[in-house]
Amino acid sequence: MKITLLGTGDAPGTPTINCSCPACTDAKNPGSKSRRTRFSILVSTDLGNVLIDTSPDMREQLLRSNVSRVDAVVWTHGHYDHYGGFAEFYRVQSNVPVYGIQETVDYITNIYFFLTASKNYVKFYEPFSLIGLEFSLFEVKHFPEKHPAGIVISDGKHKIVISGDCEVDIPQESLDYIQNPDLFIADAIVPEFMDVKKHMNSDHAFETAKKIGAKNTVFTHLSHYYKPYDIDCKNYPLAYDGMSFEF
Ligand SMILES: [Zn+2]
Ligand SMILES: [Zn+2]
Ligand SMILES: [Zn+2]
Repeated sequence: MKITLLGTGDAPGTPTINCSCPACTDAKNPGSKSRRTRFSILVSTDLGNVLIDTSPDMREQLLRSNVSRVDAVVWTHGHYDHYGGFAEFYRVQSNVPVYGIQETVDYITNIYFFLTASKNYVKFYEPFSLIGLEFSLFEVKHFPEKHPAGIVISDGKHKIVISGDCEVDIPQESLDYIQNPDLFIADAIVPEFMDVKKHMNSDHAFETAKKIGAKNTVFTHLSHYYKPYDIDCKNYPLAYDGMSFEF
């Protein structure tokens, strides 16, 4: 399987509109890894493509990564930066199979009532199969969302854990469920000297990676409060748009 981080930014993305901080300034240089579109992850095998969340930047992301068809979408939660691009399926694909906690799937498909979607409700900790892989959702906390989810993906040999947007206070049942991943893709929206209640900062993400015994960790959902990529990639395992992992 191949995991591609299509979008590694937070809700406003980097550059943020009307900001001239060091990260946003660097992000305006062609090819800069500080430039971050909104959150989405592509999971691919020989059998197809699954999108984790539908970034508002989805069209550009799919074109950039040459994805001709999306076989399924799995949503983590109902925040705009994670579902806004679902409308980009308009007149491109219909009846896209969508997966998630019932409240999340209903909330998003109601907003995009003019699109047809094939709805699949899943429950926390109950695996389902897509493109030859096993996916499952685990519960996290992400105020004020009622049922935000992280995602576990397995090919039978490797385990990938995506934290989703989450606070450091992950329920114990979930911590037990996500032990020993080969790769932990962690929300780490800001560096450790800042605190954002709804998300983990870099210290929280490191702490969680240690708690679950992650073999490899990468930070995503990154804001412009980090220094430009080339500087802060020496201090943190920062992801960048287009970064990929093969298992
Ligand atoms: Zn900025
Ligand atoms: Zn969120
Ligand atoms: Zn988000």
